[in-house]
Amino acid sequence: MNAAAADALAFDLIVIGGGSGGLAAAFRAAEHGARVALLEPGPLGGTCVNAGCVPKKAMWLAADLGMRLQTAARLGFVLPDAGRVAFDWCEFLTDRERYIHGIHDSYRSRLDRDGIVVVPARGRLAGEGVVEADNGVRLAAPHIVLATGSSPRRPDLPGAELAGVSDDFFDLRAAPARVALVGGGYVAVELAGVLQALGSQVDMFVRDARLLRPAEAELVAQLQDNYHQLGIGLHTGYVLERIEREADGSLCLHGADGAAPHACDVALLAIGRRPNTAGLGLERVGVTPDADGNIPVDDWQQTPATGVYAVGDICGCGPALTPVAIAAARRLCDRLFGGRPGSKLDADNVPSVVFSHPPLAMVGMTEAQAREAHGDDVHVYTSRFRPMIEALADTAQCSLFKLVCVGAERRVVGLHLLGDGADEILQGFAVALKRGITLDDLQDTIAIHPTSAEEVVLMR
Ligand code: NDP
Repeated sequence: MNAAAADALAFDLIVIGGGSGGLAAAFRAAEHGARVALLEPGPLGGTCVNAGCVPKKAMWLAADLGMRLQTAARLGFVLPDAGRVAFDWCEFLTDRERYIHGIHDSYRSRLDRDGIVVVPARGRLAGEGVVEADNGVRLAAPHIVLATGSSPRRPDLPGAELAGVSDDFFDLRAAPARVALVGGGYVAVELAGVLQALGSQVDMFVRDARLLRPAEAELVAQLQDNYHQLGIGLHTGYVLERIEREADGSLCLHGADGAAPHACDVALLAIGRRPNTAGLGLERVGVTPDADGNIPVDDWQQTPATGVYAVGDICGCGPALTPVAIAAARRLCDRLFGGRPGSKLDADNVPSVVFSHPPLAMVGMTEAQAREAHGDDVHVYTSRFRPMIEALADTAQCSLFKLVCVGAERRVVGLHLLGDGADEILQGFAVALKRGITLDDLQDTIAIHPTSAEEVVLMR
């Protein structure tokens, strides 16, 4: 034991950060018999549970229900108030918060059951194998996992502080009349769909020519069309210069190149996230974040400091998704404490879903990525269709599925689904894609009729 660790409480593992990745590390290590301490000053569950996936999905479900009620009104169901659906946002919030408290409770009882010591304080590295909590507690362990996640970025622009970020969306108590969303990624697309469905007039301001730059272009074009039908305004090629507060309390967005000023009641910035590394004491162990603030790790989550590892958004290895952080943490602890020396994250073919309206689900390569990797040996199959409910209600909302295959054997390297139920359909096909299936395997599978999912096995 070094001198710095002499007066510290001793553990096998210290985890800094009680979000999805940190909790997964703590639970898995404890399962393997390790003595674990977890430091978390805020609510358990981090961004995912408190200001991300979980409350977002709750709001998405509310928005989805609202849209289904509108569809119902077109199909003979009689709604009060001439088909207008009123939504009591605050009442829904109590249900959302009750659900989240249930998750906190289940984490707490599991931490107790597994004998994990929770220190409700911020931790920082204080030397090799030593962590200092800001409540004065000192802990020592041969293994330390950094899992402090990330926070929304703010641009360095005049008036940027007048706008909110995704965290502020979760504080809303009603749908603002006019919302401006800056950014065209996951968060912006999801919040735009939810707010528009729940009664706001949403305008999106995107610096690129399209939304969701990493996603399959054809599906994004269809999603933009669907969003247009929902009434969402899309301003592409837009460079935000400043935000100003008007005399009546509203906000005004000013863009470069003579873009017309845009008035709104609430502006939300969704331009990506930055790893939370400030105050972590990285300099004490010789770790320097890269230009984007990510902690450098190798394939084994190992930072340049012996015994210090990082998982999740803080290290930017693999997509910034909860299940990726959890997988990395579990595999790391299987390796450190579970006798599995080869256990590590495989970040290839990670499926993900943008909870737009309808959802956009994707796994593997886009057509453009496949063509870059395989040249002309790429074969693409698409199916554009109106789901039965949209056809019955005679709306113009369309689904679009796309399959990307390579080689003579038509190995499936990408599957992209935009449509109702895409979020639930993709998981099983993601397993199949990871197992290396071909177009023949899909076509040999009998369809389930009538469903949207059957389109995946009927494409030719
Ligand atoms: P993303 O990286 O997805 O998107 C950021 C967007 O902001 C892009 O459109 C980007 O444009 C734009 N942008 C970046 N910098 C600027 C700038 N200075 N001015 C204007 N626009 C800018 O970030 P998000 O915040 O939306 O989400 C963060 C991550 O969280 C996601 O990447 C995803 O991994 C995860 N997430 C996952 C969800 C899910 O699984 N359903 C839901 C929400 C988040 P450009 O494309 O030109 O760079």
